[in-house]
Amino acid sequence: MLDGLAHLLFPAVCILCRKPLDKGEEHICAGCFDEFNPFPGAIAGGVMLQSTVRGHFDEQAVPSAAWSLYPYQSSGSLHEAMHSMKYGGLFPLGELFGKRLGELVRQNGDHATFDAIVPVPLHRLKRIERSYNQSEAIASGMAGVLRLPVATECLERCLYTGTQTGLGMEARRENMAGAFRPGRKRSPARVLLVDDVLTTGATMVAAAKALKTAGAVEVAFATIAVTEKEG
Ligand SMILES: [Zn+2]
Repeated sequence: MLDGLAHLLFPAVCILCRKPLDKGEEHICAGCFDEFNPFPGAIAGGVMLQSTVRGHFDEQAVPSAAWSLYPYQSSGSLHEAMHSMKYGGLFPLGELFGKRLGELVRQNGDHATFDAIVPVPLHRLKRIERSYNQSEAIASGMAGVLRLPVATECLERCLYTGTQTGLGMEARRENMAGAFRPGRKRSPARVLLVDDVLTTGATMVAAAKALKTAGAVEVAFATIAVTEKEG
């Protein structure tokens, strides 16, 4: 009742096109979501993610299973939404994308084999700087859909790495190697590792390696987007 009144007085608008949101829509309208141009079907994004990792790393670094929602470009409405999520303090957007990513994983039907979701951690100083970790928000949205716990204490980011944007592959790999270490707790055996965007895979490959040192047997990757051109 009160919610309905508030909606009438202050209609919520889409953060991208500024049109009033319909009932059931949150932050981004259905029309704008369509414009993000999702990968066709449940497996296309994962295949793209795996082939991106394969293009930069040894076969053993390629995740056994992978999911991704959108091809990522460095401009356009998806870029704008991801930027709001990461830097604009639009925390609920991460959850919203996470729910969609969770649905995608669920379509494959093998999510029940995972023990936990692990968000790629930020260094604690960067976490303070940004006030939240977008990967944790994504993981939390996924956790609700997949009914899996989120494990944050089995993986730590020990290096404060600057932005990866604009770095070539060699620099990224060097930047990320040794950026993660096992956390205070042992890793669950079968883990779904989550991040916002995969560009070359350097971050997730390094994180997965630390998780395996922490006790993980299998690490699958899930991201909102995979960058289309090589970074
Ligand atoms: Zn819109």
